[in-house]
Amino acid sequence: MTPHLAPSSVQRLLAEIGVHPDVPVRVRSVEVREPTVHIELQLAYSKTRPVCCPEPACYQRCLTPRGLERLAQELREALGWLVPPSLELVVHPEFEPGYAFSEPIFTPSTTPMRFTHPE
Ligand SMILES: [Zn+2]
Repeated sequence: MTPHLAPSSVQRLLAEIGVHPDVPVRVRSVEVREPTVHIELQLAYSKTRPVCCPEPACYQRCLTPRGLERLAQELREALGWLVPPSLELVVHPEFEPGYAFSEPIFTPSTTPMRFTHPE
């Protein structure tokens, strides 16, 4: 039996771990391929609520090393595995036209970013 995780469950876990209110995170897809869970996320940057920089782990607690550790533990429980999965997250930033970071040295880029745990 292929284990399955609903994107909505992962969405809820991320919210519990910590998502910045000004940059909503949406779970696009979740794929379980033992021993790895692959998650695609979309980050919505809106012009009226700029954050400091393009590094999501700067303000998304769920993407910090501690946040990813907690996510791995929660997913272990959800999957019923003996050991936590390794995590592979691909983050797709999306910017409202005219978006500018509050630190003007940074420019918006929609290049996907990869986060892994353990690193
Ligand atoms: Zn920052």
